[in-house]
Amino acid sequence: MNLEQTFGVIAIISGPSGVGKTTIYNTLRAFRQKLHFSVSCTTRARRGDEVDGMAYHFIDDETFEKHIQNHDFLECANVHGFYYGTLKSELNYIKDGENVLLDIDVQGMRRAKEELKSTPFFYCRLVTVFIMPPSLQELERRLRGRKTDSEEAIQRRLANAKGEMEHWRDYDYILINDDSNQSAEALAKIIDATHFRTQAITRENWL
Ligand code: ADP
Ligand code: 5GP
Repeated sequence: MNLEQTFGVIAIISGPSGVGKTTIYNTLRAFRQKLHFSVSCTTRARRGDEVDGMAYHFIDDETFEKHIQNHDFLECANVHGFYYGTLKSELNYIKDGENVLLDIDVQGMRRAKEELKSTPFFYCRLVTVFIMPPSLQELERRLRGRKTDSEEAIQRRLANAKGEMEHWRDYDYILINDDSNQSAEALAKIIDATHFRTQAITRENWL
């Protein structure tokens, strides 16, 4: 007997800025194939060695507004004073068997989940994961250690962190990111388990 899992899953990952989400994806990428990292649009400035079209589509307010008017976004939100939006087209990668990872904030997760409820094909393949830092002190240490944000941006991100962390119960899973390798392995297991949801099975061959 066997099951055929033709399509990928959609994993929404949230957690305060600096907790280590990007580091976890990069670790996961090293030992997992068939991963697509959803590229969001943002009006914030490029930072560090971020590449346009890879980390984000860096666009201006006017272009962002056009995307809203064209209904291109699955969800969009103002985070830390800038606009961020997930393009609906990013989800289509699951049709090619890719697992799509969305790094979006708490309000984005809620809106995306609500929006996807009307499309069972996507909704039954959706899983949500909250990433927690080991402590607030460690979060601050990581934000400062990254050396990409101004003092003002660090303060804004730290101030928002507590509020974001209160919503961990709204997620299917929680990971405490002590060790990035362990977190990446745990995330891989969560993605694997989602593939075996009964609602996500398209074809089966019983005995
Ligand atoms: P996010 O994508 O959530 O904003 P990053 O992946 O950019 O966070 O990580 C922020 C900083 O913390 C980086 O300098 C990164 O090297 C460091 N970092 C990430 N994960 C860990 C960890 N598990 N232990 C210690 N430092 C970490
Ligand atoms: P950063 O500027 O550090 O890359 O991201 C800041 C915050 O914006 C993070 O919490 C991240 O999850 C969130 N974010 C990134 N892209 C999107 C998006 O498309 N939609 C929403 N709602 N949040 C996003």
